[in-house]
Amino acid sequence: MNKLDTNLVVNSFTEAGFELIDQPSRAGIVLVNTCSVRNHAEERVLSLLGHLKHIKKSQPEIIVAVFGCMAQRLKDNLLSHEAVNIVCGPLQIPELVNLVNKAFENKLKQSMVSSNIRSKPSPQQLQKLDDFELFYDSAENNLPAQAFVRVMHGCDKFCSYCVVPYVRGPEVSRSPEKIITQIKKLAEAGMKQITLLGQTVNSYHYTQNGKEFSFADLLYEASKVNGIEWIKFVTCYPKNFDERIFQAMADSPKVCRYLHIPAQSGSDRILKAMNRHYACAEYLDLLRKAREIVSDVAIAGDFIVGFPGETEEDFQKSVELVKKAQYKNCFIFKYSPRPGTGADDRFTDDVPMEVKKQRNIKLLAVQEKISEKLNKSFIGKIVKVLVEGISKKAHLDGSGKEEYPQLMGRTSGDYIVVFNGLASLAGEFVNVKIRRTSALTLFGEIT
Ligand code: SAH
Ligand code: SF4
Repeated sequence: MNKLDTNLVVNSFTEAGFELIDQPSRAGIVLVNTCSVRNHAEERVLSLLGHLKHIKKSQPEIIVAVFGCMAQRLKDNLLSHEAVNIVCGPLQIPELVNLVNKAFENKLKQSMVSSNIRSKPSPQQLQKLDDFELFYDSAENNLPAQAFVRVMHGCDKFCSYCVVPYVRGPEVSRSPEKIITQIKKLAEAGMKQITLLGQTVNSYHYTQNGKEFSFADLLYEASKVNGIEWIKFVTCYPKNFDERIFQAMADSPKVCRYLHIPAQSGSDRILKAMNRHYACAEYLDLLRKAREIVSDVAIAGDFIVGFPGETEEDFQKSVELVKKAQYKNCFIFKYSPRPGTGADDRFTDDVPMEVKKQRNIKLLAVQEKISEKLNKSFIGKIVKVLVEGISKKAHLDGSGKEEYPQLMGRTSGDYIVVFNGLASLAGEFVNVKIRRTSALTLFGEIT
C-alpha cells in the first residue's frame, strides 16, 4: 500500500513539473512516506528527520513533507519538528503538490490530516482519491509488467494491537467499474500481473444499481481483462471468508495460487484479546477448505509474538498452528505497543523484549523447516515464472549457465525462483525446471 502511495505521489509531482532525484542534499523538496504499524518504522523516520534537520542547517530552503500514516497519527507533534515543513495524512495525498506550492509561496508550515479519522470521507474526498489513482505510472514501478491496484481504503476490523484503523480511516470499497477500467488501462500499458490491494480484500463489497458486488465478483471481472495474465491480491482476513473467492481461484487460471491469510496467534485466549473474532480451529478449517477447492494453493501467514499476557503455553499453540498450517512462508513480528489502540489502553506490554526475540527466532525456525520441505517437493518440476529482474542477492548456482546474469522471479504461488537468463527477460513469463531448493528459494534452469 505504501509503495503504491509513493508511486502516486511521485508521479503527481513529476506531472506538476518537478524532477525526481534521489539525494536529499541536492533536493529542493524531500518527500517522506511513513508507516506506523510498528514503533521501529516510526523510529526510522525520526532518525531520517534528524539527518534532514542537520542538512537544513546549511540549506534552510529545503522543504520536507512527511506524509502517510505517521503524519495522520502524530499530526501537529510532527509538524513542530524542526525539520518538518508539511504534514499530510494518507487520505490527503492528492493535496500534497498544492501544499508544497503553498509552502514555497508563504514560507509557512502546512498541515492537512483528517480531523476525525473514523468519520467516512466525503464523496468529494473519495472522488479526489479515485482520480489520484490515475497518477499510477507502471513505468515508475521497479517490477516490470506488474502493477498495484487499490480496491479499498482503510479498515474496520480494530484488531486490538493495530493502528491501521486509526490512521487509514474507515473501510471504503472503490467502485468495481473504476477498478476494472484502471486494470484495462494497465493492461494496455503492457502490464501482465496486477496485485489488488486492501487491508482486508475479502471484505470488499460495493452496491451498484441495487446489485451487490463482492471480491469474488471482482476477481471474475478482472480475469476477463485481456492482457492481464496473473491476478494476485493481499491481504485477507480469516473471518467471514466468502468461499467463492476460492472458487474464483479454481475457475480462473489467471487468479494466482497464493493466499496471504494472517493468523496472528494460535492461542484462542490471545486471539480473543487481539479482537480477531475467530478461534484457531475455525482458522484451520478455512485453510482446509482453501486447499480442498484449490489443491495447489500456497498459503502465507503473519504472527505476532509477545502480545501482552502471552505465556509460554500460548506461544506453543502458535508453534502448533504454524506446524498444522503448513505455510509457504510466514511473517513474524514482535508485539509493538501502538498508542491509542485497544491493546495498549487495556494491557501492559509485559513480555520482555528478550522473550519476544527468542519466540520470534523459534517460530521462524519452525517455519523454515516447513518451507524447506515444501520447496523440496518442487525439485524436478517445471514452474511458470514472471521474471522480476536481476537477482539482488548473488546465489551459488552451478547451473552451468553462468555466462548469463542471475535473474529472479515469482510463481503464481509467490514462490521465489532464481535462474540464469538474459536480463531482457524481465517482465516476461518463462518456464523454469527446478534443480535445487533452499528454505527461501527455488533454483533452476529456463527450459
Ligand atoms: N491488514 C493487514 C496488514 C496489517 S499490518 C492484515 O490484517 O493482515 C501487517 C502485519 O503487521 C499484521 O498482519 C500483523 O501481524 C503485524 N502487526 C500489526 N500491528 C502490529 C503491532 N502493533 N505489533 C507487531 N506487529 C503488528
Ligand atoms: Fe490491522 Fe486487523 Fe485491520 Fe489488518 S485487519 S489492518 S491487522 S485492524
